[in-house]
Amino acid sequence: MEFVTQKYSIPDEPMKPFIDPDEITCILKNAKPDKRLISDIIDKSLAKTRLSMQETAVLVNATDPDHIQMIKDGARKLKENIYGNRIVLFAPLYIGNKCQNNCTYCGFKASNKNTVRKTLSDNEITHEIEALEDNGQKRLILVFGEHDQYDADYIAHCTKLSYSVKKGNGEIRRVNINAAPLDIEGYRKVKEAGIGTYQVFQETYHPEAYKTYHIRGKKADFGYRLTSLDRAQEAGLDDVGIGALFGLYDWKYEVLGLVRHTNHLEACYNIGPHTISFPRIKDASMLKMGTKYMVSDSDFAKMIAVLRLAVPYTGLILTAREPAELRKECLNYGVSQIDGGTKLELGSYSHTRNEEQNLNKGQFRINDNRSLNEIIDELLEQNMLPSFCTACYRLGRTGEHFMEFSVPGFIKRFCSPNAILTLGEYLLDYAVEETAQKGWQVIEKNINELPDEKIRTKLRERIAEMKNGKRDLYF
Ligand code: SAM
Ligand code: SF4
Repeated sequence: MEFVTQKYSIPDEPMKPFIDPDEITCILKNAKPDKRLISDIIDKSLAKTRLSMQETAVLVNATDPDHIQMIKDGARKLKENIYGNRIVLFAPLYIGNKCQNNCTYCGFKASNKNTVRKTLSDNEITHEIEALEDNGQKRLILVFGEHDQYDADYIAHCTKLSYSVKKGNGEIRRVNINAAPLDIEGYRKVKEAGIGTYQVFQETYHPEAYKTYHIRGKKADFGYRLTSLDRAQEAGLDDVGIGALFGLYDWKYEVLGLVRHTNHLEACYNIGPHTISFPRIKDASMLKMGTKYMVSDSDFAKMIAVLRLAVPYTGLILTAREPAELRKECLNYGVSQIDGGTKLELGSYSHTRNEEQNLNKGQFRINDNRSLNEIIDELLEQNMLPSFCTACYRLGRTGEHFMEFSVPGFIKRFCSPNAILTLGEYLLDYAVEETAQKGWQVIEKNINELPDEKIRTKLRERIAEMKNGKRDLYF
């Protein structure tokens, strides 16, 4: 598969800013949706080609309900045909909320005196991870404010500590990071510590809007943040996640910004982002935001479908910021990863459950408070296959999302069997009885749907080994 190459007003060069707001605005202005064009664009995406910014803009501008339905149907088809029914699960772990920046939208901003500042001690991190493991989690994202204390050495330390904590059959097999941008040397250090994805969200791709939300601190430098994941690539850390915070500027513009960022990484490093995140602003301590750019639920669902079609081989992450019903709907349009059993208050996984969310202790308010088991149960009801798979990362098969998409048979050979094995582990070790029963039925159904007899046999053998006490089996 070839990447689409396009000419832009700012040519792509490594470590150089690449966003021209006038260009994006102009592309949006000139994109006129009609039924025929939308249908052709969807066909192009279904034929496994990434869309251009102009094509993405046509989808983004669609307002006719029939056109929107076509886009959602297209996204659903792409998801079903190419990715199947797996949903990868993870949990965020907030390590420290000290912050030297003052992002208007964030509860951790330096000027917010109401926030209770805390950095977990090693002991506390260990307890948090034990609690997460007791829940069945295998994949974490460690989250940090931007503070001198949270430098590359500290992030590397927390990563190694996370991998070292083992309780019962529990262990963390993949640690992703969401923290401030690093320099090249810093990215090298965290790569050596064994991180999975390094996420940096641009928040808004509009430089003028960006300025208004980031008045002081290191984050005020739009260009430094924009090129942060170029530096990761220069350091050999090719597994990166991009994102925009929806509600800061026109959502249509941000979608094109995300596509432009993807193009840039592909043009310079021949590898796009592993994941795209699209958080919407949620209530936070001392939050004073206008409502001008808030994204409605219906636009949000459409936006996810557009993104799925625009970047068919990139993972899409939808977090517990969003309410359960909306998450359920959006899974159909191609979301590939969700968090479950999420708690944002520092230290809260190892404390009593069902505590009221305390806005002065967390970064913002989440809207899906369900436990991991409840989420897994619902996924099973929807005929989805919950997965904790980390096999590609551990076998050095990087760019797995791209491989899933472009290597024929990859999903049936690796992803589905591994999803089944990791779900099986969860059912044996952590699920409540009713969920376990449902889960084994879903596993049986999914095994029977695998086309290769040899893989079916091997998989059944491995499940038998797991039932005899073996763990961490994968293809
Ligand atoms: N401090 C680092 C940084 O700013 O890059 C780490 C990221 S922060 C802890 C994680 C992300 O949360 C931010 O990049 C932002 O997109 C998002 N965020 C901040 N405030 C939010 C809010 N009120 N509602 C939803 N998401 C928010
Ligand atoms: Fe600090 Fe990140 Fe929050 Fe900005 S978004 S105030 S940098 S924690």
